[in-house]
Formats: sequence, structure tokens, C-alpha cells
Amino acid sequence: MKKPKQIDLTQLEDKIAAKDRIIAWPRMGRIDIPLKALISNLGSKYIIPPQNNNEALELGVKNSMEGICLPYKLNLANYIMALESGANTLMMFQAPGSCRLGNYTKMAQKTLKEMGYKFDMVIFDMYKSKMKQTLQAFWHVTRCINPWKYYKGFSIGFAKFFAIDTAERLLFYTRPREIHRGDAEECYNKWLEKVDETNSLWEMRNIKKKIKEDFEKIGVNKGREVPKVYLTGEFFVLLDPYTNQNIEKELGEMGVEVERQIMFSDWLEHVLKPSLFYGKESHRERSVRYASDYMKRAIGGECIETIGDCVYAAKHGIDGVIHLSPFSCMPEIVAQNILPKLSKAENLPILSLVLDEQTGKAGYITRIEAFVDLIKRKKMKQQKV
Ligand code: SF4
Repeated sequence: MKKPKQIDLTQLEDKIAAKDRIIAWPRMGRIDIPLKALISNLGSKYIIPPQNNNEALELGVKNSMEGICLPYKLNLANYIMALESGANTLMMFQAPGSCRLGNYTKMAQKTLKEMGYKFDMVIFDMYKSKMKQTLQAFWHVTRCINPWKYYKGFSIGFAKFFAIDTAERLLFYTRPREIHRGDAEECYNKWLEKVDETNSLWEMRNIKKKIKEDFEKIGVNKGREVPKVYLTGEFFVLLDPYTNQNIEKELGEMGVEVERQIMFSDWLEHVLKPSLFYGKESHRERSVRYASDYMKRAIGGECIETIGDCVYAAKHGIDGVIHLSPFSCMPEIVAQNILPKLSKAENLPILSLVLDEQTGKAGYITRIEAFVDLIKRKKMKQQKV
């Protein structure tokens, strides 16, 4: 009989008993909310490093190679901060491909060991780790054998991912239309807190409906002319508000509706669900289809998604696209070189913004304002014709 393939999930160096494990993972958007619900339901302890900020950036920059991409620097800083606060088990997300993401784990492990930290690193290869491997990884760190706890933890964790994305989509729609500035943000923050607090499957069942009902109560100006902009680009910078300098909020307050092309719940569903049960075209598949005139195959990172999203936007009447990438990100540099041609051919305004530790807020906002001005004038012109 063929021997089942052994799955190498960990690079276990120090044997840490399950009861002594304190788990940490990098910051990205609000993944801390669903992940801590999952881990605490499996009976383990965790530490969440502080939100990304200037201090984290400084720490990451100080301990990384100069040319490495910004997401790595912040991830490393998250780990250092978590280890300093007592974490001993680090969860790391890894993916194959032609970019540096495949080396992140080894580089981070080496650096942290050289800095003298003792820890166990559990690696989730997101393009291999379907449900079975994900369960094994969680079993490895928690040693939980209670199926009910897995059921509850995963159900609540998933429901929280979806609830957060629902609240974000409603925020994107409502913020540029609200009559009283700040109402949408307040509603969003209130629901984020509630989603974070609840640990009841029953409450999570109806939470999306309640979030929608609450957003519908906000006074909006339905007649307001609101241009729509897609945000696309590299995964981490799209999801991390510190790195992208809260671009969604800035655009919303400029009267623009944003549609972020990477939502965590969509992505997670695609990555974890067996393809038989996924039942719809994934973001990657849609991108490959729409990008085909400009790019024949994926080259790593989110390059093909960037191109596919821009073509999709042009074909669906979206007013403009803002492309975000970290400085020195190889896949996005390739995309950036295709975008001028695409913009001309598809008659689509595209603004490419490169982010790094030197990005100053004033210049960044000025570029966004100029772009918004351009798409608003283009929209007005089209309406006059
Ligand atoms: S996609 Fe870009 S930023 Fe992300 S790991 Fe790859 S090279 Fe770095």
C-alpha cells in the first residue's frame, strides 16, 4: 500500500508543551479578531502584537536587509514585539511563487534566532494548506482533540471574517454619502467591537443582518454623485491601513466609493474550501481571464490580479483604479510597467502609488486628491455628452 505523504508543517526546534504555548501571528487588517476567537476556542493562549505603527516600522527596518519588501519588515517587527511580550509559537503564512514571499519564513526564522529568541514556528503554506493541513497545524499548536471545539472555533472564526468584510463593504458605500461626517465610521467601529466580543455561534448567525440594518439607519444623500474607485495591488499593503496610510478613509472623505479587490473572507474561502465546494469563479480565475490580452500567466504576488482588476474595472464602468504596491515588490513592478499601456487602451484612469518607510503623507494625499479631481471631471464630462 502506498504510504501517505508526510506533511511537514513545522520546523520544530524547541519542544513546547501545548499548555505552555503562547501563539502569535503578524498583523494584517483585522485578522486578529477571527484568529483569536479560533485559538481561544481551541483552548490556547495568544499574544497580539500592537497595530503596525512607526515604532514597529523602525524595529523592522533596523533588523531587515535594506532591499527587502516592506511587508516583511513589518511582519518581522510584529514577531519581535510578540516574542518580547512572551510569545513562544509563531504562526507564519507562506506561499510559493516567483516573489520573495517564499523566503520570508526562513529569513525571519534565521534573523530571530540570531537575535537570541527561542520559539517554534508553524508554517501555513496557503496554497497547499487546504482544510486538512490547516487542521493539522492548529492541532500541532493547541493539541486540542475535541471536535466540538474545532467546530465552534472554525465556525465563529469564519463568521467573524465574513462579518468584518460585510461591515467594511457597507462602510465603503456609506462613508462618501453620509450626511453627518463620521456616522459610518462610528457604526463600523461599534460593530467591529461587537464582532470581537461575541463568542456565541447563535449571535454570529444573525450578525451580518444586524450590521446591514444598522448601516441602513445612517442618513445618506442618495442623489450625491459618487465616483467609484477600485483599490488593487499587493495583498499586504491593500489590507494594512498603517502601510497604505488609511487610503480607504481618505478616499471616502473625498466623496469616493472604494471597492477593495482583496477581501480577506473571499480569499480565505477560496484558499481553504475544496474546489468542488467553492462553486464560483475565484478572484485569481477572473483575473487570469481579464488579463489575458496583457499577460499570459501569473508571475507571483498579485501581479495578474492587478492587471485583471484594471481590465475588469474598465469593462464595468468603474471610474478609476488606484494601484498600491510596496517599494521593490517585483510582481507589482511588472504590473506597473503594463498599466500605462492598459490605461490608454481601456480609457481608464489609473494611479500607481508605491509605499515604503519614506512615504510622506502630504505628497501622498496631494496625488490622491489630484487623481480624484481628474476622475470627477471625467465623469462630469461624460454626463454632459
Ligand atoms: S508580493 Fe511583493 S511585497 Fe509581497 S512578498 Fe512578494 S515581492 Fe514582497
